[in-house]
Amino acid sequence: AWAHTARFFTTAAQLHQLPTSELPEVAFVGRSNAGKSTAVNTLAQQRQLAFASKTPGRTQHINLFQVGPKTAPDQVWADLPGYGYAAVDRTAKLRWQEVMAQYLELRRNLTAVVQMVDSRHGFTELDRQLLDFVAPRVRTGEVRLLVLLTKADKLNRKEQAESLRGAQAVLGEIATEESDVGLALFSSLARIGLDDAALALRSWAAP
Ligand code: GDP
Repeated sequence: AWAHTARFFTTAAQLHQLPTSELPEVAFVGRSNAGKSTAVNTLAQQRQLAFASKTPGRTQHINLFQVGPKTAPDQVWADLPGYGYAAVDRTAKLRWQEVMAQYLELRRNLTAVVQMVDSRHGFTELDRQLLDFVAPRVRTGEVRLLVLLTKADKLNRKEQAESLRGAQAVLGEIATEESDVGLALFSSLARIGLDDAALALRSWAAP
């Protein structure tokens, strides 16, 4: 019912290298290993789509995918670089901050951010940092936010409830009267929260 057809569009290392677009753009962000690629692929119902973002030379890039009918795409998905690899050096960290901050603060057609947070770990320092970049635009309602607590299949009911509560506390600092902030347990593997996430994505497409 919720099939998104998506195909690789383009890749760029920095905001100014991205083509401008009038199409609503949804950015997928998350720590490395949070399950972002798997989630994007599952939502697109395509096995290899977001793994295009994992090919050498593209892992630190912003990778764009066109979504919707091939002749009339109605949305763009932006797969942003995964963050938080312990091995990454200081220079790379600073570069990451700059690329992410610029994209999240300035990308004109950015409509929504889907942040993948590992349900077992909750928001880390870097997750919060990333949230800070986009928070001003979320507070005004200009950009929607959907936080998916990934790999929820690894938690029991009690742990799932705790994970939700922890994330809720963080998001409470961002929510306003105008904001559109969503939070859900998610599992690509057990297909938890998939339909709702897909519906949200659909609702953000161009009419
Ligand atoms: P990314 O680095 O955020 O793109 O993460 P990946 O999508 O590559 O996933 C990282 C690891 O988590 C892989 O070993 C996946 O098989 C695993 N994984 C992804 N999604 C799920 C899930 O829903 N449940 C479980 N149990 N494992 C998952």
